[in-house]
Amino acid sequence: MEISRELAELEWIPRPRLTALRRLGITTVEDLLTHFPRRYEDRHEFPEFPREESDVPICLCGEVVKTQLRRFGGWKKIFEATLQETNANALSQPLVCRWFNLHYVQKMIATGHKLVVFGKPRLRGKRICIDHPEFEVIENDDEISIHFRRITPIYPATEGVNQRLLRSIVYRLLPQVSEAPLETMAPAALIKGDRRSAIQEIHFPNSWESLKSAREHLVLSEFFALQILIASRRTEWRARGGEAHCGSGKLLEEFVQSLPFQLTGAQRKVISEIRRDLYRAKPMNRLLQGDVGSGKTVVAISAMLLAIEAGFQAALMAPTQILAEQHYAVLRQFLEPLGVRLSLRTAARQEDNAPLPLFDRAKENAAGPGSAGCQGSARVSRVGEGVPPSRTSLEGRPSGGARYHCRRLPHFEKPWAIYAVTIGTKARRCLSPQERTIVFDALRYFHNKRYELFAMCVMPDHVHFLLQPWPKDNDDAGKVIFWSLNELIHSLKSFSAHEINKKQGKSGAVWEKEQFDRYVRSDHDLHEKFHYILRNPWDSGVAGQNEPYLWVWTQEDEYPNESSSRRDDATSTRDACATQSGHAQSDAPQIIIGTHALLYEKISFSNLGLVVIDEQHKFGVAQRARLTAREPAPDVLVMTATPIPRTLTMTVYGDLDVSVIDEMPRNRGKIVTAVRDETKLGEVLSFLRAQLEAGRQAYVIYPLIDESEKLEVKAAATEFEKWRDRLRPFRCELLHGRIPMPEKQPTMERFRRGQSQVLISTTVIEVGVDVPNATVLLVENAERFGLAQLHQLRGRIGRAEHRSYCILLTSDRSNETMTKLSILEKTNNGFEIAEADWDLRGPGDLLGTAQSGLPALKIGDLKKDASLMRRARAAAMSIYDKDPRLDLPENQRFRQLIVEEQGRIFSNVS
Ligand code: ADP
Ligand code: MG
Repeated sequence: MEISRELAELEWIPRPRLTALRRLGITTVEDLLTHFPRRYEDRHEFPEFPREESDVPICLCGEVVKTQLRRFGGWKKIFEATLQETNANALSQPLVCRWFNLHYVQKMIATGHKLVVFGKPRLRGKRICIDHPEFEVIENDDEISIHFRRITPIYPATEGVNQRLLRSIVYRLLPQVSEAPLETMAPAALIKGDRRSAIQEIHFPNSWESLKSAREHLVLSEFFALQILIASRRTEWRARGGEAHCGSGKLLEEFVQSLPFQLTGAQRKVISEIRRDLYRAKPMNRLLQGDVGSGKTVVAISAMLLAIEAGFQAALMAPTQILAEQHYAVLRQFLEPLGVRLSLRTAARQEDNAPLPLFDRAKENAAGPGSAGCQGSARVSRVGEGVPPSRTSLEGRPSGGARYHCRRLPHFEKPWAIYAVTIGTKARRCLSPQERTIVFDALRYFHNKRYELFAMCVMPDHVHFLLQPWPKDNDDAGKVIFWSLNELIHSLKSFSAHEINKKQGKSGAVWEKEQFDRYVRSDHDLHEKFHYILRNPWDSGVAGQNEPYLWVWTQEDEYPNESSSRRDDATSTRDACATQSGHAQSDAPQIIIGTHALLYEKISFSNLGLVVIDEQHKFGVAQRARLTAREPAPDVLVMTATPIPRTLTMTVYGDLDVSVIDEMPRNRGKIVTAVRDETKLGEVLSFLRAQLEAGRQAYVIYPLIDESEKLEVKAAATEFEKWRDRLRPFRCELLHGRIPMPEKQPTMERFRRGQSQVLISTTVIEVGVDVPNATVLLVENAERFGLAQLHQLRGRIGRAEHRSYCILLTSDRSNETMTKLSILEKTNNGFEIAEADWDLRGPGDLLGTAQSGLPALKIGDLKKDASLMRRARAAAMSIYDKDPRLDLPENQRFRQLIVEEQGRIFSNVS
């Protein structure tokens, strides 16, 4: 039997079970076989009932001798089942299992039943109890050998399919699966054994040892698939055309000479790594990791100076307005004396130290001579090309096949996401050409800064488009609010329906209620959707091969960018560059600093050579892609102060080269961190006053009480009053997310100049803010913050030679909070903190793998299995180093692994 077989075709799985399985995304035999157990129970022999508590959950077996339903607090119910050991002796104690408010349990358990339970025994009064144990009722049927006297698999919880049933289905399926389709998709040198027996063993292990090696087999193949995907992205990036963006280094030298300090060895090392990359014609794609305060900005400036010396522009992108402003101020201070032209571009402020205009507005561009002219003719000219299928077809790509059938895609709104949307007409009604134009124009012009449209196609009875919701609120409190997809689509539908009805003098629904949408997970995915949409009329036969179709649109129709014109005169690329750099020398800014406004404004750089992205974790893959998707590719340096465990770097940032600043500037004062109970506020205050009297400054951080705007403002205001009274006569100022930018800026500026002594703030200052004279950081309700966040906050102090103090106030004495906060008392090292954080939070989505566009893991554990990941990575890299296109016969099969998940929606509609 093929593993791609649909379970429904097997005819022995009852229909309601199939439905329940489908809810879990399990539709084929393979889905089921790769629905791996979450843990195992050794059911050869059960231990005696415990007499003491245990923090480790244990697995026990016994007979129900009594059940009882008790009520408390009105409507709440507790169901209790008392269990007796099977071979009870005089010393045996019964075990009480309790479930609160779970009325279905009471229907499943009755006196006389035999139960297997799993949980942590606790002493309650004199009784040993397990609250909410996992349990399974033993039925003495002929299937007993599947469930007992073995190491028994326990699967991830599934409503509507119980453990027994799932186990029986898997048990019955396993022997029926033929050998052939279970090929191990990894080189033999990496993985021992065969997949067939690994799958058998992972479900029904013969021993703990064989389970271990089976798991290793499966984890390695999973990791290998992931690393092949990463390696292919890396190779793809490297295959892009790039240029060298490196000057002689004279400007850099001048800059380094002018600094009031010596560069650290680590900074020097990293700068030379970057310099080597810039010098190469290959595009750089490098991650710079360095703890807060390690001096990344200086490194970024150095890189940009090298690029502009070679006649290119450089862009520095920061996640918040405050940071962008700060970078602008710092860069002006350092670079104005060197005669570098800078420009600040944020949603709120656009300023240049050079007097001349910087950005060619794309619209002006489009209207300029030689470009495509008005929108109508642009459309026609594109259609005139007929979008030859050869240009857009995916024929070069391996066609996924059975291995990548549709997986369930998470269906929720994500900021920074591009969505692929399909809407059909009501009852598949055919839109007339005139109606199609209405829809076309609606999508095209309706947006008014609410979304960005990448591509669309209005078909006779449906519409496809790719769009990305824009920020609704461009305020830079570190939180950007986006238009919701639903909101956007709803308006689009009702607007266009209204227009259509108006023209026809009709009324009634135009669109189907149903719509299909999903977010685009990777660049590759984006390309695929993009081409799918642009080809749709021709591929579906709505338009003949060389016939024009008027209702297809892409951004390029409207904004032909410099890259396309360059592509046209390939012969004179060099001249074009030369004139452009000549132009840059005369007036254009050399360094452009900005927030994500750089992404959303329709700006084009005249000659972008280097992009530096600060605090990379705040941007998504798609954002990065936007700035860097030009030909020839600019060099890219992404910087992050959120150290992530080294083992994760190779996955989450696996396609980047990594540089690490692992040394702090020497002049740094020590930071002392102390956790204090809220009741000690008095002592803390007198300490704080003493510091202020000594001329230092302080931050007071309080967590957001509520997300809602009104409450936030109110909480901030009361908080502020309190602190002003406490710290009189020192000058306190308030900073929080709802303060409008024009007021924020001077507040920051006064603090920086020492005109105010205390900044009361939410976490707006979390990243990057640099005021060396500030030596105290007081965090209220510290338990509400995450470790990484607290570490970031702490990075605001200890920035000069003075000794600094981080005081974490909390009233929460729980173990969990104390463990967490004491880590900060113990270490200042960001990597150690990241590791500890990972330990505390356990596995799971530390950084949001969705952001990295990588598939979710089914069995491997990024932390526990780090050494396996290292092996898988080495294997994948070495294959790609020798055979970057996977042409060798033994490597061709790995091409299948590179096909990213396919959207079911796109393959089924039209
Ligand atoms: P981060 O890595 O957190 O972005 P910054 O680049 O903001 O850190 O640097 C923090 C502070 O340290 C700045 O005031 C900067 O001028 C200073 N600094 C950078 N490098 C050195 C150095 N080698 N010696 C002393 N101070 C330095
Ligand atoms: Mg920084």
